[in-house]
Amino acid sequence: MERWLSEDGWGNASSVHATGRKAQERIEAARDGVARLLGTRPGRISFVSGATEANNAAVAAWAVRNRARPMLVASRLEHPSVQEPMLRLAAAQSVEWLPVTSQGRVDLDGLETLPSEHMGMLAVMAANNETGALQPWREACAWGAERSVPVHADLTQVVGKMALSLDGSGAASASLSGHKLGALAGIGVLWSREDLAPMTVGGAQERGRRAGTENLAGIVTLGAVADWLVRHGAEEQARTQRLGARLRELLGSVPGIAFSVPQDKALAGTVHLRLPTDAEPVLIRLDMQSVCASMGSACSAGVAKPSRTLLAMGWTERESRSALRLSLGWSTEEGELSEMTRILGQILSNLAGAARTSE
Ligand code: PLP
Repeated sequence: MERWLSEDGWGNASSVHATGRKAQERIEAARDGVARLLGTRPGRISFVSGATEANNAAVAAWAVRNRARPMLVASRLEHPSVQEPMLRLAAAQSVEWLPVTSQGRVDLDGLETLPSEHMGMLAVMAANNETGALQPWREACAWGAERSVPVHADLTQVVGKMALSLDGSGAASASLSGHKLGALAGIGVLWSREDLAPMTVGGAQERGRRAGTENLAGIVTLGAVADWLVRHGAEEQARTQRLGARLRELLGSVPGIAFSVPQDKALAGTVHLRLPTDAEPVLIRLDMQSVCASMGSACSAGVAKPSRTLLAMGWTERESRSALRLSLGWSTEEGELSEMTRILGQILSNLAGAARTSE
């Protein structure tokens, strides 16, 4: 990003002067890279500010387009940026929540009890952002394509972590956020098979699909990450697979903790645990030793509400307070895993000792 922006300058891609034209070239090169990563053609990609905007825009567009089919379908596993716009529309359109299994997977059998001819859209994410549980989004897309029900797939948690071929998937729309891959925050993609009504109107940027001056720095970084992943993604995925398996093996020896989702049903780099105690004091002590972990989802951290995802999986409110999430990334090194496990084991044993003394 530094190189491109210092060589080409901060052009506005809508300007006709040379710097503007260079900016537009950069944007189109990035779009090509992202298209290769997603297995699609560049014309189906719109750059937006992130998955939140893409999810909001997709829900609104499908709901408006399919007013005559007013049933919106999703599950409580979806990210709030899918659930909340659906709930806002609930006065005019009905929202149906699909059942969820105790392993955190949406149960598509629930679709058979609903009238598909009334469905305006179905949203099924590719992997859950809290538990890492993999979802049957490909099956949902195929189901929707057979019945002309548009299926929106939130791919935020899986892009770069598995091979994708969106054009052949049957999906009607999809979303992702660049910062999950290592691009800057504030850039994302709304992919759609056909043009959707834009959320922002004004200028003619993004071929009229998303008004507003483009986030050139964000787009350039997303393009660079996409190019890198097309070349090295498979190696990185194998590395994460190995590290994830190792982390689970190490954590298996810590007394009292349980894995929320079996290894083969979750993203390799997301390990969701139920601790034998509330997670908050553990998280604080981990942070004091430079371990960055999460409780529930990062979006709801700091909000004392129990996670909708965990409640949907059948956890009680009390149990949901004991959830801890550990995520691996491209910067994680193998040695850090045993060190982190040692620190976590020590914290849990100290807290158990303190609880015994105070009894
Ligand atoms: N969807 C999923 C599955 C996510 O994990 C996130 C962020 O964590 C989002 C949507 C929203 O992304 P952003 O906050 O970048 O808009």
